[in-house]
Amino acid sequence: MDAHNTLSGRVALVTGGSRGIGRAIAVALAGAGAAVAVNYRSRKDEAEAVVAEIERSGGRGSAVGGDVSVAADVDTMVGQVVAGLGPVDILINNAGIGPVRDIDELTEEDFDRTLAVNLKSAFLCTQAVVPGMRARRWGRIVNMSSVAARGGGALGVHYNASKAGLEGLTRGYAARLAAEQITVNAVAPGPVDTEMAAPLKAAGVAASLPVGRMGTPEEVADAVLMVVRNGFLTGQAIAVNGGRIFT
Ligand code: NAP
Repeated sequence: MDAHNTLSGRVALVTGGSRGIGRAIAVALAGAGAAVAVNYRSRKDEAEAVVAEIERSGGRGSAVGGDVSVAADVDTMVGQVVAGLGPVDILINNAGIGPVRDIDELTEEDFDRTLAVNLKSAFLCTQAVVPGMRARRWGRIVNMSSVAARGGGALGVHYNASKAGLEGLTRGYAARLAAEQITVNAVAPGPVDTEMAAPLKAAGVAASLPVGRMGTPEEVADAVLMVVRNGFLTGQAIAVNGGRIFT
């Protein structure tokens, strides 16, 4: 198999693939040969632009809408991917939100919404694709965590809780699925230059990082590709954080 085409014949679903880190992951997976479904919640045009970029490079992709925190949307979305590209071999649970809230201003609604989009979504999407992966005895699931799963974080306790929960979910599924050749890992970035991190960028977060700059979406996508290619790596959280936390 061509070294650059190691995922040829595989189908990937990237949640929140319309922009930021998800976009870079979708493009990288397609570059490695996978057919890629690019999920979005509201920005259909941006998801279609990612698919157009994949197709211009000779790859296969499709844009699929849906709120990944809603079970019915997830079922519809996965059904569309299976019908259009084939059964999902690689699931990247990347969609997320990071509203900045201090303790005194955090509402129950903020908390519930953040947990639903950042954590429950990964449960819903995993449950939807795992039966097919089990039947084929091959699968890769990567959950997009954050330094906030272990550190103090800059966005708020709701975000910390959602990402720490995601790493617990990762280990639980990894333990139960390893024997069926399905790996489940997390990638935990530090501040990456995307829309979500704009408030951190404006506050000068780059200067607080040992490397002296924010990360790029492509650097996170590189780590995801490494995880997807490695069948002996499971149950881990891979830190990509410019030296902010040593794990
Ligand atoms: P971003 O630029 O804000 O992009 C978020 C993506 O998630 C968009 O594609 C958005 O879709 C999608 N999305 C949001 N809510 C959704 C929902 N309910 N259903 C489906 N899609 C939804 O964020 P990012 O910085 O690339 O972050 C991606 C992931 O990395 C998140 O899980 C985030 O927590 C994590 N992370 C980010 C950083 C960072 O510094 N940027 C650091 C650590 C971890 P639309 O375009 O349609 O709105």
